[in-house]
Amino acid sequence: MNLKVQQLAKLPGYSITLLFLPFFLSCTLSNIYVQSVANNIVSEIIFNNGIPEKFEELEEPAEDIHKIRALIVLANSKLPQSISRNIIEHLENSRDFIDELFVITAQEHSLWRLVDKNHSLDSDFFPDDIVPLRSKSNSYLVNWPDLSLRSLAEVPLDEMAVAARKDGIILGVTSGFRTYTHQAESFARRVRTMGLATAEMLSARAGHSQHQLGLVVDFGCLTNAFARTPEYAWLAANASRFGFSLSYPRGYEQVTGYNWESWHYRYVGLELVAFIEKYFDGIQQYALEFIHDFVNL
Ligand SMILES: [Zn+2]
Repeated sequence: MNLKVQQLAKLPGYSITLLFLPFFLSCTLSNIYVQSVANNIVSEIIFNNGIPEKFEELEEPAEDIHKIRALIVLANSKLPQSISRNIIEHLENSRDFIDELFVITAQEHSLWRLVDKNHSLDSDFFPDDIVPLRSKSNSYLVNWPDLSLRSLAEVPLDEMAVAARKDGIILGVTSGFRTYTHQAESFARRVRTMGLATAEMLSARAGHSQHQLGLVVDFGCLTNAFARTPEYAWLAANASRFGFSLSYPRGYEQVTGYNWESWHYRYVGLELVAFIEKYFDGIQQYALEFIHDFVNL
């Protein structure tokens, strides 16, 4: 058992949750389908192992436990039912979802870390591989002085820009890594010029910006006029091949908390970007929230 499962096993009443899971799910999701799948999984565990006092008493239960964890997270999430159902079907029929999830969470936390309106980075969070942004292959343009990025993201950015060049597209980078202090000043400036409510939709408070991770690139003009450019179309079609994911898509303002930003791409790695597309309709926020809740359950 891994550490997390041991921690789960120590939670008093967790096995009670297990036994009442179908009821719990039926209350929260009102979804007969979820209820029946949960019933099947729980019945199978009890059939194979008896009623467990503690998870530690189960033999090799890791996969089932993780399925149940995933179901509990789904039951408490605000995911659209179509997405929940799709994930549940995968949980029922294979171990791919759990396996892929664990490949992702074994990677560096920054790649899958949830940073949003409700989840922040400390003021002293400062990645140690920040490099000045300068395309080694001369493939992308740097539109602003003194930009920087983590080398973890700069290497795939350069590869992506080389591929874009081959298609006749020149990517221009306008923003990269931002410190906590930089973000605090930028947010305060927006509040002064446009008021708090507008600033909140357009910009992050200090500590709440994905840019502080050093893995985010803003392309082009930083307005949605960018969405009418060939660079935008190329990125929309190809960024995922290099591990980049659009953070704030159109029509998901209520989910992300931000206006549509056609230019803001976060490097999450090939595994997570594939996971986001396969299970979460391409919506990064859905996947990051799910992973966050799963890991912290
Ligand atoms: Zn941005």
